[in-house]
Amino acid sequence: MHELSITQSILDIALNKAKEANAGKISAVSVTLGELSGIAADCVQFYFNFLTRDTIAAGASLTFEKVPTKLRCRKCDKDFAPEAIAWICPRCHEQSIEIVAGRECYINSIEVE
Ligand SMILES: [Zn+2]
Repeated sequence: MHELSITQSILDIALNKAKEANAGKISAVSVTLGELSGIAADCVQFYFNFLTRDTIAAGASLTFEKVPTKLRCRKCDKDFAPEAIAWICPRCHEQSIEIVAGRECYINSIEVE
């Protein structure tokens, strides 16, 4: 159900933007999705097809730009990608880590006609 509400907000934003642009049809929507967002792209795709049926976004293509997880050590500032379940800095072995990228979920582009 998480994905349903997210898809609904994606669609609401896209419809508002299309309205602002006086567009009659939305042909494509691209969404940036972080690996850590916990959002399943195929679920969003499914709900998107369902929710757009009676809108100007019906038949629009939905694409996802996946963002890999990027972490940063709070102690030595090293950026790294997590390799295992444990998030430990590969340089100084500090366990105090912040998430720099990977939680994204937003529309990065909308194509209208
Ligand atoms: Zn470190």
